Amino acid sequence: MPYLNINEVESGVISLAAAFPKAELVQLPEPTFEGRTCHALRIGTHRLEPKPAVVLIGGAHAREWGSSEILVNLAADLLHAHTGGTGLAYGGTSFTSAQVRTIMEELDVVVFPLVNPDGRNYSQTVDPMWRRNRNPARSGGNPAAIGVDLNRNYDHLFDYRTAFHPLAPVRVSDDPADPDQVYQGPEPFSEVETRNVRWLLDRFTRTHWFVDVHSYTQKMLYVWGDDQNQSVDPAKNFRNPLFDGKRGLKDGLLYAEFVDEGDADDSAVLAERFCEALKGVRGTEYTPEPAFDLYPTCGTSDDYAYARHILSDQEEEKILAFTIEWGTAFHPPWAEMKKIVLDVDAGLVQFCLTAAA
Ligand SMILES: [Zn+2]
Repeated sequence: MPYLNINEVESGVISLAAAFPKAELVQLPEPTFEGRTCHALRIGTHRLEPKPAVVLIGGAHAREWGSSEILVNLAADLLHAHTGGTGLAYGGTSFTSAQVRTIMEELDVVVFPLVNPDGRNYSQTVDPMWRRNRNPARSGGNPAAIGVDLNRNYDHLFDYRTAFHPLAPVRVSDDPADPDQVYQGPEPFSEVETRNVRWLLDRFTRTHWFVDVHSYTQKMLYVWGDDQNQSVDPAKNFRNPLFDGKRGLKDGLLYAEFVDEGDADDSAVLAERFCEALKGVRGTEYTPEPAFDLYPTCGTSDDYAYARHILSDQEEEKILAFTIEWGTAFHPPWAEMKKIVLDVDAGLVQFCLTAAA
C-alpha cells in the first residue's frame, strides 16, 4: 500500500467509526476552500462525564504526507487491540492488553488525521513540496501566492514585527508570496483549517494534552517556540508589552518565556517517554527538546494550545502541547514510511499511557 490519497484518509476515518462502537465520528464545522468536509475520531470507552482528552492532529502541512497515516494507524491499532483484548507490538516496543484498556478507559483519544485536505491533494497531484492550504483570497491572482501556512495562523504572538527582536531569525512571513511558504495569513484564525482545530479544543473541554504531527527532523518538541524557557520570572511572558522587540534571540539575556516549572517538567517527561518507546521499536533516536531550539516561531498550534489557559478569563483547563517532527524527509519511500509509522505510533501509545497514569 502506498501513501493514502485524501479520499482514502477520509474513508479510513469514517470506516473505523462505522466498525467500532468505541469510535465516534466527529465532523468539523467548517468545510475547506475547495469544499471538503473534515472528520476526526473520538476513541475510548463511553462515560457520562467527559474524560481527560488527548487531541492529536496531523496533515496541516500539505507535503508532510505520512502524518495522516501515522494517526489513522494509531486509531486503528488502539481500536483493534481493545476490541480483540490483545496488546500492541511495534518492533521491540510492546504494550499489554491491560495498558491498552487503561488508555481506552481513562482517556478520550481524539484523532484528526487530515487538517488540510486541499493542500495534501495539491501536494500529491501537482506540487510535492506544497506546504500551505489552497485559499487564494490574498494571492492577487498570483498562483505562487495562494495559501496560508496553517502552523503560523494560530493566535500566539501573531504581530511578530512588534513582538520579536529585529534580528531574531523567526520563521514566519507577512508576504503571501513568501518563497519559504511561511505566510501567516492576514490575521489569527483567518483560515477554516485552524478554526476547525480551535473548535476541536473547545468541544473537548477536558483536553489536557495536544500533539501536532509534522515532519521532519526526528524531534519531539514542547513549548515554547518563541524563546527559551525559564521558570523564575513570571513577568517575562508573551503578554507583556515591556518585552516587545526583545523576543526570539538565542542569548537568553534580553528575554526568555516564562513557563510554570511543573508544566515544564511534565512536558519534558512526556516527550522523553515518547522518544524512549520510539527508540525501542528499531533503535531510532528522536530528541526531546523545547520548540525554540529548532528555530523561533510564532502562531504555531502548540504555543497557542498551551497559552489558552493563560489567556482565558474562565477556568480553561491547561493543555500541555507538543509537535512531533518525524523522519528525515517529507515523503520518504513507502517502505521506510511504514517503519516510521510504527516508530511514531509506539511513541504515541506510550505518550497516551503516560498521560493516563
Ligand atoms: Zn510541518
